[in-house]
Amino acid sequence: MAKRFDVVVIGAGPAGYVAAIRCAQLGLNTACVDQWTSDAGKASLGGTCLNVGCIPSKALLDSSGHYHRVQHQLQSHGIRIDGAVMDVKAMLARKEKIVSTLTKGIAGLFKHNQVISIHGHGQMLAKDQVKVSMHEGEEVLHAANVILATGSAPIELAIAPFDGKRIVDSTGALSFKQVPKRLGIVGAGVIGLELGSVWGRLGSKVVILETLPTLLPSVDQQIAKDAERQFKQQELDIRLGATVKGAKSAADAVNVSYADNDGDHQLKVDHLVIAVGRRPYTEDLFGPEAGVELDDRGFIRVDEHCRTSAANVYAVGDVVRGPMLAHKGSEEGNAVAELIAGQSAQVNYEVIPWVIYTHPEIAWVGHTEQDLQKEKIPYNAGVFPFAATGRALAAEDTAGRVKILAHKHTDEILGVHIIGAQASELIAEVVVAMEFSASAEDIARTVHAHPTLSEAVHEAALAVNKRAIHRAN
Ligand code: FAD
Ligand code: NAD
Repeated sequence: MAKRFDVVVIGAGPAGYVAAIRCAQLGLNTACVDQWTSDAGKASLGGTCLNVGCIPSKALLDSSGHYHRVQHQLQSHGIRIDGAVMDVKAMLARKEKIVSTLTKGIAGLFKHNQVISIHGHGQMLAKDQVKVSMHEGEEVLHAANVILATGSAPIELAIAPFDGKRIVDSTGALSFKQVPKRLGIVGAGVIGLELGSVWGRLGSKVVILETLPTLLPSVDQQIAKDAERQFKQQELDIRLGATVKGAKSAADAVNVSYADNDGDHQLKVDHLVIAVGRRPYTEDLFGPEAGVELDDRGFIRVDEHCRTSAANVYAVGDVVRGPMLAHKGSEEGNAVAELIAGQSAQVNYEVIPWVIYTHPEIAWVGHTEQDLQKEKIPYNAGVFPFAATGRALAAEDTAGRVKILAHKHTDEILGVHIIGAQASELIAEVVVAMEFSASAEDIARTVHAHPTLSEAVHEAALAVNKRAIHRAN
């Protein structure tokens, strides 16, 4: 007899596993079907984020950051370490250990919450039936509700197809066995900048080819310009307005041809990483009766509550509209579980933080200055540099600034943009503030510990109304 569940979730990335756990917490009989298989041939929960995304990339950013500090930043503290070497094998093993700890952690959470975890490929046959193809055969599950959380996959370029060795996607770039002498990256987006930083810090000569004429066009442009200057100092060679015409792997290199305003160029690199975005992943997900519509870009079409066109079928995470971010997917998963359980829940899409984990880090939430100008929303801007804070000076990490944009008449915070050390952590304060519709004055009147980097947030809030203390307004 077919197994019956209140909820079947397809996909155990941060959107799907959070949805499954929350459903189980709310007393719903829940199964989660996921097909991810590790290189060792084992089921590995956590999706892209834990296996080949957020976590392994941050592990390498931390390792390469330590190496870079030893090489270039500790001398001024009076620390000299001669002859430091990077053991790439040990670095990769550490990364794998972190991935394994976390993916096993999800399995443990499933067990603890009594989520039935099934390793296999899920396919929606009809609105209440999910076929699971496993190693051992097939099974049809009956589900009162289905949550689709199948995530995304890297976009491939026809002119430079992946060969898994020299022309690779982000997954390949997380596992180079040695530091490439010359590394080419197509796309100066989040992945290009993060993984370019990793290998650049370890000694690769990194060239990033970006088709657009502007770096990070959706980021506040004052911050993006700061970032561009910082990356230049780090010798990340970012070539804007560069259109790749083709790439061919040879025995010992990849030959890349590209064109920019100055004409046609050739580039020879050891590896080429294609990082031009990701696409929703729905391969073999629907049987003919599923009744779930996709939009014209291949995303599962959903309303503001993540309901698809089929009754009792929801979709969350990268496979639906909105930013492809782990925390956005997790919040959608959580909200859908609560809706299924009869509660009211919603995601505030206006206040989703973004972080780019380069050094300095870049973090933002809400409107950019160019958005406000375009929409003709009157605003005041408060800007404060980290170089004017004692903590950043003590840490010898002074690059960057905090910028707060608040409505000119109501003082409500409309956007916050940070480039600097620990920007990923500093942004949380203003996300909470914006969630509560705080004004710049609310932050300005909040006591911030001294000496901390968060004082730059405090001072930027004061600067909105020209009251910064440690700098001329
Ligand atoms: P996924 O994590 O992609 O999970 C989907 C799961 O569904 C996978 O396990 C897949 O195997 C499974 N699946 C698919 N189809 C089926 C099927 N038919 N049957 C069974 N299982 C199926 N985001 C951040 O917020 N912060 C970061 O720092 C960050 N860093 C990143 C770094 C890199 C290199 C990459 C590639 C991405 C990064 N992201 C980051 C993005 C983040 O990984 C994604 O936004 C997030 O993983 C999306 O979660 P998801 O649950 O929607 O999908
Ligand atoms: P992206 O959208 O961030 O950047 C892709 C870049 O490639 C863009 O700048 C685009 O203009 C450029 N591009 C597109 N086609 C090109 C071409 N033919 N030649 C040259 N450049 C080209 O995408 P990504 O870096 O691949 O990352 C995918 C997604 O993964 C991100 O959008 C983000 O949602 C997620 N991610 C998030 C984090 C994080 O939160 N820190 C880290 C990594 C990935």
